Amino acid sequence: MSLTLSRYLVSLGHGTRKEAERIVRQRRVTTAAGVVLRDTDRYVHDDVFVDRTPLDAPPGSVVLLNKPAGYVCSLNDRPPMIYELLPANYPKRTPVMASIGRLDADTSGLLLVTDDGPLNHLLASPKSHVPKRYAMTLAEPLRGDEAELLASGTLLLKGETAPLLPAEFLATGERNADITVREGRYHQVRRMMAAIGNHVQALQRVALGPLVLGDLAEGHWRRLEAPEIDALR
Ligand code: URA
Repeated sequence: MSLTLSRYLVSLGHGTRKEAERIVRQRRVTTAAGVVLRDTDRYVHDDVFVDRTPLDAPPGSVVLLNKPAGYVCSLNDRPPMIYELLPANYPKRTPVMASIGRLDADTSGLLLVTDDGPLNHLLASPKSHVPKRYAMTLAEPLRGDEAELLASGTLLLKGETAPLLPAEFLATGERNADITVREGRYHQVRRMMAAIGNHVQALQRVALGPLVLGDLAEGHWRRLEAPEIDALR
């Protein structure tokens, strides 16, 4: 997406239009090669530096964060927030860089953050059936009937009337398993395991659609490449 230089600076959290125009007049805005950008009405895309520092993710970016347990996604929850792990401009940008759906404070792992509203809606809406895979540690040893129960498509969560879509459950240890779900109900995995008589002690999202967490360190993030974003649509 191309924007004029002043709109680009404003959208990335560099102040009001007047403030953006001021830093341009101060010759602080350049290309990577150091060429000073003077024309605030010129259309720009990616190659913009302020004070010799590359600007963070351009509009339309998607960031993959390995969220540690203890961090919250929503401004209405108790800090620390995921924004503490991301570039400082993110909460100031318009549109704001927001998480695609949420992970509970106690859940770690793959979280996408974007300012692309339609993409956010596409992936987070209740109608989205993008698969999400979680690795979990349970309080009680597995019984052996979990995969069948969760695949049945008849299980009800407490207080709900619509049965859960079938989910894939794979035991990986005596008290460890992976589960793939295609919905995003409130505290879904924890409530699913409660519905079959167990309790989740630790939960990590390890994959979302075609994306995997891989070896990205906890608390770290990376920008998705364009083909990775296209594969999410
Ligand atoms: N299911 C949960 O219970 N919690 C999450 O954060 C995600 C899925």
